[in-house]
Amino acid sequence: MNINVLCIFPEMFSPFVDFGIVGRAQSKDLLTIKLINIRDFATDSYGTVDDYPFGGGAGMILKVDIIVRTLDSIDEKGDIYLLSPRGRIFNQDLAKELSKKGTITLICGRYKGVDERVRDFVDGEISIGDYVLSGGELASMVIIEALARLLPGAVGNSASVEGDSFESGLLDSPRYTRPGIFRGKEVPSVLLSGNHKEIERWREEEALKITKRYRPDLLMET
Ligand code: SAH
Repeated sequence: MNINVLCIFPEMFSPFVDFGIVGRAQSKDLLTIKLINIRDFATDSYGTVDDYPFGGGAGMILKVDIIVRTLDSIDEKGDIYLLSPRGRIFNQDLAKELSKKGTITLICGRYKGVDERVRDFVDGEISIGDYVLSGGELASMVIIEALARLLPGAVGNSASVEGDSFESGLLDSPRYTRPGIFRGKEVPSVLLSGNHKEIERWREEEALKITKRYRPDLLMET
């Protein structure tokens, strides 16, 4: 998969892009992340990418001409998404949908946001939640991290994505590792039983219990 990211702070993506599954997906050629600095497409010698808002008010606005110039420089854009509090809320379903696309392009806003006319050049808008960040860079990293996990072959033991929260519409079941007893707290005995069928059943029951307790809304959706 190819992900193009347009932003004014590409340095923010380092070291994120080099670590964990995102790093591994790139070294296995499953993922290519292209960071494109909007400032490189400024048309004046100051590298101006933003300007004062028409009508006044606080905060600078990223300029539509510079953003579109940056977009025009990319040969293969795929679907283009603007990171924006107005967008579709990012979740595992959207992550799955995006991970199946060969190429996507993410546009990160900054300051007070982007000129409204940028929206005429995108295929969709994505929000990572109902709060306001100072820029789309972190939001893009969240999306890239969630997508990388879903690329076939990216997660070492591919089975380890199975059972993850939201994969089956439920939260994950409890997980334990050694020691078997810690300060008097024991690991549920079924996990030590070696009976895989029983373990599977226990995990399903626990996942359902946990979802009912913490996120009953997930059960209503289906
Ligand atoms: N004035 C805008 C916020 C601008 S914040 C408003 O109130 O809607 C600057 C940039 O940060 C935005 O252009 C967007 O790219 C990014 N951003 C802020 N919050 C975000 C969120 N919840 N999800 C995704 N991107 C976000």
